Amino acid sequence: MSDILVKAIDVSKHFGPFKALDEVSLDVRRGEVCCIIGPSGSGKSTFLRCINLLERIDSGSIWIEGELLGYRRDGNSLHEISDREIARQRRRTGMVFQRFNLFPHMTALQNIIEGPVQVLGEPVKEARERGRDLLARVGLSDKMESYPSELSGGQQQRVAIARAMGMRPDIILFDEPTSALDPELVSEVLDVMKDLAETGMTMIVVTHELGFARNVADTVAFMETGRIEEVGPAAKVLTQPDSLRASEFIKAVQ
Ligand code: ADP
Ligand code: MG
Repeated sequence: MSDILVKAIDVSKHFGPFKALDEVSLDVRRGEVCCIIGPSGSGKSTFLRCINLLERIDSGSIWIEGELLGYRRDGNSLHEISDREIARQRRRTGMVFQRFNLFPHMTALQNIIEGPVQVLGEPVKEARERGRDLLARVGLSDKMESYPSELSGGQQQRVAIARAMGMRPDIILFDEPTSALDPELVSEVLDVMKDLAETGMTMIVVTHELGFARNVADTVAFMETGRIEEVGPAAKVLTQPDSLRASEFIKAVQ
């Protein structure tokens, strides 16, 4: 289990009577990029939100580095953990959403240092230095003092990625990070994500960008109706999937 960073076992999640996740199991190794593909409504966002503890699961379990999310073991029984513990566990995962979710009243640099200073308790000077480095890594050294409204969608999304990295997460979850962008801005964000993958960051990426999945992902999981229909090496799943539905989906998307 040592090189498994995230382990989901038989995770189910209902919204009322509707089963959004149906016994989803997935292993993500340290340093791996796992792309999740599949039609709208198949449960991709819900699964990421469960890993990020934005949703509670009904059954099954999710582990990060061997730590069970949301529960504490006490002999043979499990107890829900406190909100404070939930917040601590949530910090293991960074999340980048479709919409950039930057704080509109803060500059790019302020957006990045807010969490490290307020939540991690980093000294401001150190956080600023690291924030500058992170902005340089996403190619935005010249935009440190810009407000989100002064940045393009692609630039805002790159700030959002730098902000996620600023919290030193074990893994970053991306939920369709380029699907709200104008087409000409997609590649600058994917390039930043590729660079990040090359530094060894563990990533789960929900995306319809199959070119990115082909070039960057180690594994690809195809989801449909709340289930992982197929998961395996990216090259295999994207070019010779066993599942007919995966094959049809891939043909339709590209
Ligand atoms: P995807 O990201 O693959 O498009 P989602 O995880 O967003 O799919 O949604 C899966 C299904 O769960 C959809 O049918 C959606 O309508 C439903 N769903 C998601 N969140 C909620 C919610 N908070 N309340 C009720 N239904 C939800
Ligand atoms: Mg979604």
